[in-house]
Amino acid sequence: MVTPVTACGSLPAYTGDMRSFDDAPFLVIWEVTQACDLACVHCRASAQPGRSPGELSTEEGYRLLDEIRTFGEPLTVFTGGDPLKRGDLFGLLAHSVRIGLRTAVTPSATPLLTGQAIEGFQRAGVARMALSLDGPDAASHDGFRGVSGSFARTVFGLDYARGIGLETQVNTAVTQHNFRRLPEIAERVRESGAKLWSVFFLVTTGRAAASMDLTAGEYEQVFGFLHETAQTAPFDIKTTEAQHYRRYAAQHGRTGRRLAPAGINDGKGFVFIGHTGDIYPSGFLPLGAGNVRRDSLVAVYRNSDLFRGLRDSGNLEGKCGECEFRNLCGGSRSRAYALTGDPFAADPRCVYQPSTTNSTEARRLATPAV
Ligand code: SF4
Repeated sequence: MVTPVTACGSLPAYTGDMRSFDDAPFLVIWEVTQACDLACVHCRASAQPGRSPGELSTEEGYRLLDEIRTFGEPLTVFTGGDPLKRGDLFGLLAHSVRIGLRTAVTPSATPLLTGQAIEGFQRAGVARMALSLDGPDAASHDGFRGVSGSFARTVFGLDYARGIGLETQVNTAVTQHNFRRLPEIAERVRESGAKLWSVFFLVTTGRAAASMDLTAGEYEQVFGFLHETAQTAPFDIKTTEAQHYRRYAAQHGRTGRRLAPAGINDGKGFVFIGHTGDIYPSGFLPLGAGNVRRDSLVAVYRNSDLFRGLRDSGNLEGKCGECEFRNLCGGSRSRAYALTGDPFAADPRCVYQPSTTNSTEARRLATPAV
């Protein structure tokens, strides 16, 4: 049982970077397909084996990448489903790299992930390949991923990439089934030589059931473990849909290692393009603001009511709206929507109780330095 964290006057000032995300996102995720041969129990995309006829075509994909480039050089991630289900994947990746986008890819660990495919990523100029690892052994990982052999394929992929000098990232979805085994998973990440451990916290969309999620107190326990691990780990750690890890880190002191940019959140430094071109603030927030087939991605990101509203912390409700950490954190807008139906509601998986006085000093301590 974790004691609820309360505001106090001795919070360390957050000294991380803080940037305006009004003009351009830091991170663009393109779901190139929903097709996938895995059947993960938590799947956001409720992926199916076959490709949808409504997917963006090759030409539409090229146009999309060119438009992403007009934002500048956001990190652009090709995700799925399994991107390897698209025969035009390597051409699209090469185009992305050629026009100057920092490009990453997140294939699924299936027989499609061969040494040849991994070498293809490297030839295309991909900066990093991310693979999922949701348990420290085959029984736990394959049970979660719904296909036997997935763990072995993940280990193979990470080893192969390391062998040819391609940078890797490990993604872990934290649920009731694995959160007590995170230390063992962290050890696997260390052994793999991955540069980044990206820890996903559940948003109950797709096949993810609410009963799989952790309690708010268990989130806090995991934050404690991640923060402690980050002090000495040879890899960076970031969280996805757990913006309040930034609040935890600010309260407990910086690690010296890189966190995600302060304040990044759904629609705020982040945009997700679905497989048919729909534009979302996040892959976990199913509120569309347009479609790249008919709308300008840049205009939707900068000007749509949804994205502008999500970037304004003054719209936050409940305790997130009163919280000293709302600009640094802001809570998961996706989780708020999934659990309450309101994307501006408080994140129900946060134990923090904002200061009742909400004093100027408390706000100063929780405000990211510019
Ligand atoms: S109350 Fe909301 S804004 Fe404050 S730390 Fe928790 S999730 Fe973040």
